[in-house]
Amino acid sequence: MTEKKKKSPLIIRADLWLIGGVLLTALLLWLCLSFLIPRGAEAVVTVQGREVVRLPLGTDTGYRLETEYGTHYIRVSDGAVSVEAAPCPDKICVHHAPVSQSGETIICLPCGVVVTVVGAGDDVMLPGEEAAP
Ligand SMILES: [Zn+2]
Repeated sequence: MTEKKKKSPLIIRADLWLIGGVLLTALLLWLCLSFLIPRGAEAVVTVQGREVVRLPLGTDTGYRLETEYGTHYIRVSDGAVSVEAAPCPDKICVHHAPVSQSGETIICLPCGVVVTVVGAGDDVMLPGEEAAP
């Protein structure tokens, strides 16, 4: 092993341009999507199809929801709503990621609790609501 190989640098200029291009594209896509998809204005909570409360997503808050099955804790944080605790056995609603986009829902099937994000002036049909004639 007397031959010495010429060491090539780990990152060359072209790599930096590529990384920069990918980051710029990602940033532009994110900006486009955040403008195209309407941010939800409030979370509508219904139990068995009956609206119980509307929580504005602009204010961090918590809501204690009593149902016949037990207590749900609904949390609004950083413009998104999530279910922190629920009495249901499967806890699918608790494990659901926070929702913030208009039309997104978190459903607790065993308890009949539905959390729907609606946008400002949106006419999202809630479960149990009938279409206007
Ligand atoms: Zn649940």
